[in-house]
Amino acid sequence: MVLHDLLTQSVPIHALNNVWNKSIWVDVLRIDTIHPIISGNKLFKLSHYVSDAIAKGFDTITTFGGAYSNHIVATACACHLAGIKSVGLIRGEQPDTLSPTLQEAVSFGMQLQFVSRDMYRNKAAIMQQTELADCYWIAEGGYGHLGSLGAASILTIADTLNYTHIMAACGTGTMLAGIIQAALPHQQVIGISVLKGHTGLETDIRYLLPDASQEKRFSILQDFHFGGYAKHPQQLISFMQELWQQHQLPTDIVYTSKLLFAAKTLCEQDFFEPSSKILLIHSGGLQGNRSLPQGVLPFL
Ligand SMILES: *Cc1c(COP(=O)(O)O)cnc(C)c1O
Repeated sequence: MVLHDLLTQSVPIHALNNVWNKSIWVDVLRIDTIHPIISGNKLFKLSHYVSDAIAKGFDTITTFGGAYSNHIVATACACHLAGIKSVGLIRGEQPDTLSPTLQEAVSFGMQLQFVSRDMYRNKAAIMQQTELADCYWIAEGGYGHLGSLGAASILTIADTLNYTHIMAACGTGTMLAGIIQAALPHQQVIGISVLKGHTGLETDIRYLLPDASQEKRFSILQDFHFGGYAKHPQQLISFMQELWQQHQLPTDIVYTSKLLFAAKTLCEQDFFEPSSKILLIHSGGLQGNRSLPQGVLPFL
């Protein structure tokens, strides 16, 4: 299996029909099904960075992330599939036992270096460390133009022309910027911010759009972060259990559960015009649920 094969796999659409509002149709694009661990948007976001690194003759890619980071494990996997070395700079002291995410990253050949939380704030200083200065660097979370270019192909892996709205969860906003670029003029793109008070998000997204006319195609909703990044109160866990029991739809605690909750709330509040067709991007990230104690969720 090479990187390109993963990115061109066919991806199912899971119909939720009109569950939350009788005049609104909701479908879920399951890019989480591409791979059980590296599922989802990160592979799309990384694909152009990896080919750029190889084209420019680098032999190592380095990036940043936390102990349960989807981005870290996806970078490790993408580099493994592309035959290039990877280094992960991990926030915090080295633990006695590596998290499942970091074990997986190591199994893909990633070399880990732990960085104290203080140091981690000063990424520029870390990047100048002599032994790392010659690596190809990918920003934390994969933010950047090449990332959004990769994410733009998320809309081409299925027939997405007939949707009036496309919704996705946002961390850095890179995926959303790609989706906005690939969306058609009649489609509205709605981003659900999972960070609390992430007021710079819209500016960060606009910076990645090549064409100012695309700015009208998107909006960001800030009220569905459930307390902040990786915060998962019982209300969110209960909603995830309900989605699984009623629809066999697995979601993750950081991103996709908040997206689905937002979609349900907006449908119930008549936010959309009648006859709207909504496409929710299931961006993956299920591996992050391994930070929960076993048994909390009835799926991974
Ligand atoms: C990283 C991630 C996102 C957010 O992507 P950005 O491009 O940083 O906005 C959304 N969903 C999942 C599952 C992710 O892993």
